[in-house]
Amino acid sequence: MRVDMRRSRERMVREQIEARGVRDPRVLAAMRRVPRHLFVDEALHGQAYADHPVPIGFGQTISQPYIVALMTWYLELEPGMSVLEIGTGSGYQAAVLDEMGARVWTVERIPELYDAARVRLSRLGHAGVRCKLDDGTLGWPEAGPFDRILVTAGGPDVPLPLLAQLADPGILLIPVGGSRRDQQLVMVRRQGGELLRENKGGVVFVDLVGRHGW
Ligand code: SAH
Repeated sequence: MRVDMRRSRERMVREQIEARGVRDPRVLAAMRRVPRHLFVDEALHGQAYADHPVPIGFGQTISQPYIVALMTWYLELEPGMSVLEIGTGSGYQAAVLDEMGARVWTVERIPELYDAARVRLSRLGHAGVRCKLDDGTLGWPEAGPFDRILVTAGGPDVPLPLLAQLADPGILLIPVGGSRRDQQLVMVRRQGGELLRENKGGVVFVDLVGRHGW
């Protein structure tokens, strides 16, 4: 079983991620190391390495492997950087960021997902990831500013509290657009006091629900 999962993971990295142009060796290594199947229900282990999102309960999903790799790559992470993730979900993306050597803070609004992810992350060796149950559109003001902010749910626009908690230099990534349709992955780069906004292409994410979300 374990060997099969490792082989599935290796194939996922080669065929879904590397072949589509994500070649950063540190991103590929992190995705080879994190046992993605342990972030989904046992009944769905067989789907964990497939090329699509997988349900994690409460109408939410763990993102497609390629999208996790792409967003991680776009963050231009260096070891030791602080990263705020909004939308802990299963904890998988947080584990990948932790594997990249980042210092990770992650916020989830659904209590059951928050509880499960916290336990899972510490059991799998990611006890350093700090988890909070809250409306993540408000960020985590006491812990900021953050070098990087990653929102893994789609909102109507960039939440202002998150912009306020982005360091200079800093990069923020968030899917923006209609509810579950016409979403663009938006990158906001803060540099020398300026904000640069860039669209990185179409994506499909579950809704960002909260004060500065839907
Ligand atoms: N990054 C996750 C997948 C995210 S799914 C993983 O790797 O598994 C999107 C998650 O965002 C869901 O769990 C949803 O409950 C959460 N979410 C939506 N709005 C939120 C908000 N305002 N604050 C925190 N979490 C939110």
